[in-house]
Amino acid sequence: MSTSLRFKSVEDASSRKAVKVDIPSARPESYYGCQVFNRQKMFEYLPKETFEALVKAIDNKEALGRDVADDVAKGMMRWAVDNGARHYTHWFHPLTDGTAEKHDAFVEHDGKGGVIEKFSGKLLVQQEPDASSFPNGGIRNTFEARGYSAWDISSPAFILGGTLCIPTIFISYTGEALDYKTPLLRALNSVDKAGTRVARYFDPEVNHVTSNLGWEQEYFLVDEALYAARPDLVMTGRTLMGHESAKNQQLEDHYFGAIPSRVKAFMLDLEIECHKLGIPAKTRHNEVAPNQFELAPIFEETNLANDHNLLLMSLMDEVARRHNFRVLLHEKPFGGVNGSGKHNNWSLSTDRGVLLFGPGKTKEQNLQFITFVVNVMAAVHRHNALLKASIITATNAHRLGANEAPPAIISMFLGTQLSAILDEIEKNPSDDILALSGKEGLRLDVAQIPELMIDNTDRNRTSPFAFTGNRFEFRAVGSSANCASAMIALNAAVADQLNDFADKVDKAVASGTPLNEALLNEIKRLIGESKDIHFDGNGYSEEWKQEAARRGLDTETSAPLMYDAYLSDQSVEMFGRTGVFSKLELEARNEVKWEMYTKKVQIEARVLGDLAINHILPAATRYQSTLLDNVFKIKQLFKSDKADTIAAQDMKSIEEMSEHMAAIRSEVEEMVEARRQANRIECERTKAIAYHDTVVPRMETIRYHIDKLELMVDNEIWPLPKYRELLFVR
Ligand code: ADP
Ligand code: MG
Repeated sequence: MSTSLRFKSVEDASSRKAVKVDIPSARPESYYGCQVFNRQKMFEYLPKETFEALVKAIDNKEALGRDVADDVAKGMMRWAVDNGARHYTHWFHPLTDGTAEKHDAFVEHDGKGGVIEKFSGKLLVQQEPDASSFPNGGIRNTFEARGYSAWDISSPAFILGGTLCIPTIFISYTGEALDYKTPLLRALNSVDKAGTRVARYFDPEVNHVTSNLGWEQEYFLVDEALYAARPDLVMTGRTLMGHESAKNQQLEDHYFGAIPSRVKAFMLDLEIECHKLGIPAKTRHNEVAPNQFELAPIFEETNLANDHNLLLMSLMDEVARRHNFRVLLHEKPFGGVNGSGKHNNWSLSTDRGVLLFGPGKTKEQNLQFITFVVNVMAAVHRHNALLKASIITATNAHRLGANEAPPAIISMFLGTQLSAILDEIEKNPSDDILALSGKEGLRLDVAQIPELMIDNTDRNRTSPFAFTGNRFEFRAVGSSANCASAMIALNAAVADQLNDFADKVDKAVASGTPLNEALLNEIKRLIGESKDIHFDGNGYSEEWKQEAARRGLDTETSAPLMYDAYLSDQSVEMFGRTGVFSKLELEARNEVKWEMYTKKVQIEARVLGDLAINHILPAATRYQSTLLDNVFKIKQLFKSDKADTIAAQDMKSIEEMSEHMAAIRSEVEEMVEARRQANRIECERTKAIAYHDTVVPRMETIRYHIDKLELMVDNEIWPLPKYRELLFVR
């Protein structure tokens, strides 16, 4: 393959053990995108007319004709085979975690007993994977047995592990979405249309508004041998037990510290793989918890960025194994230290190169900036419960609401400057306050508020949704999530709000109000109506929970109940108006969400029960028996008074252990019974609620007692690697 790189080994001076880090001798620009069928490859491998037809279809979001598709397929196959691929697959995002693929070889019978390499437009454009094994929330039982996958021409095909992967949507025969990509594309389309409508008040030449996404992927690395010795990590992706190690993140010595060299070798390898696949990986650093790290690319158009994030997550897993690590993408792999998120940096921009959430230099530009920011504020306010539902999962539930991550309430951070501007507009809706001030950008012509530019150093790490200078950062998204879920809800909600805004402004203008006045009147109204979402204080505080409830924000903490927000009249209407989801799709997808929640907790509960009974109790019994033996011998050797004194400590331990062991035994029994009861429930929603209310709390109690035993039992016979090993070996 033209992509084979040569490496030169460099001693990493930062390492005491001198691990070698291999630096590629080729420059990134020489291999960037070499595994992607991008425009340059299209140009090279397609006939001129085919190339032009394909590019036109991509740019104008049009369907591709069958004859063009045949020619594209031929060229694409030739490129793929030239680059070592022998198989192809439709690559899609079902409602489970991750991605799905089914590989087929590029071979057909040649009629003479041999085979020829073949790939047709028909196979490129559309396939019918056996969809019955993918979650569909009953859609496919009610309607038609088949599901289709269809090529998303807006996302380029790529080669991964010798297979040509073709990004596709996955829908039922009757057109209902069975995946994340279909509704994401619909949401992006609706925000394009609505955004363009509003952006044209300021620049009539605007033809498209694009949604951008820059995700920041957090993850943990664990040594492979230790990982293998933890059945809970292997089966559930998190530790279901484990006492905090004496040192964890108190010293804050990991964050932005020197990256350990074995980790650096992994990161470099990963970045090269990313660059070969056209993923613009840029930033890497340590995170707050020991063995926790982050990778962030340069932001891209949301659909492509999301494909790249999904691809990254599978690459990470593969590359980590090469370095004898396992990557943990779970939101809360370890108790007592920070969990992992995936901040979604999100913005809208026009095809005229304007970032719509960035302040400009003129009054008009700043009015546009305020218009878009205030519409986002209104959408996030109205749909705060839905946005929370879009990011909650059984795994992210461990992170949300805990004291290090965003709280389980969606609020919006604006920073002092933007807050002051909005306050001022609400009091006095005149565009004078958005006046130009030389090169300094947005300025307030109000004496008491002399700030100049919107400064993104004004940060609040506790906010789940923060304005950061020229974009919003949706921080509540979980590290293992498909970002599409959050991006669908956010882009659709904002599109709907922008449409409503434009309807009102158009109406006012039609009845004679000057445009700027109409805009400002509507902005003022929205600020007043939605300012309850604005909160710049400490999102972790107890007062905020009460204050948020008083403001009418959603404060629900149970994941299965949060999903109800998808089915509120308000959500169903909003998704209907924007064409993103039908009610049927929403109902079906909620079934899947509740089912997934139940299954995740069910697996964890089983693993925990097994570990408690088969690993922990036997080890505790053995140690207890050693103590008993010791006491017995003491009693034989010493006179009774003295023996009692000498054996006192052991006796106390024996009793304490007995209490924990008895508690574990009875709690496991009760947990099994709670599961049995819950499993009898037919309704997926009620079942998930039962798991949340009756199984999860018992798991926490069992863990508590196991963690106590961990501190008592002889280290030599404790059957699982401890936190101090999992978190500090690297
Ligand atoms: P942080 O300080 O929050 O870690 P970074 O500078 O590392 O922020 O950026 C995080 C991500 O935000 C990167 O992926 C970056 O490309 C992305 N980003 C920057 N500007 C925008 C924007 N206007 N829209 C969307 N994403 C953006
Ligand atoms: Mg950030």
